Amino acid sequence: MARCEHCDAPLSDSDWHPKKDGKKGTDKDSVAQRRPHCVKCGMVRNISSNAAKGTGFYTNVLSEIRERVNVQSKRTGGVVAKFTTSQMRLIVKELEEDEEFEDKYIHDKLAQQERFIEAVRKYRPDLRPEFIREFL
Ligand SMILES: [Zn+2]
Repeated sequence: MARCEHCDAPLSDSDWHPKKDGKKGTDKDSVAQRRPHCVKCGMVRNISSNAAKGTGFYTNVLSEIRERVNVQSKRTGGVVAKFTTSQMRLIVKELEEDEEFEDKYIHDKLAQQERFIEAVRKYRPDLRPEFIREFL
């Protein structure tokens, strides 16, 4: 199936989504959130602070990880392998080629973070998920 280009439908009353406490909301009810859905595929977009972030954010995170790893590499005399520019390039490429990665309709922040960790560990299986998570 080709990727949907997603287009928000105008918000209507059917777009109210209860928050985690499960309460149904109305206009004046602050526990509810109104979230737009896509006119083409019907998926609901995540608009909370939990929404997926752009690949650029993860490229910056990757630079920070790389810096830290390379300090450790130096300190341990190479026991921790250097984080090379080509590893970094491959990971960014992997994220960019994943058409669903930035899709706010599919991923929330946590699912996206897991995907990021998976992509990093594909090239650096020696980096523990907990270590990577510290940067997120
Ligand atoms: Zn769509």
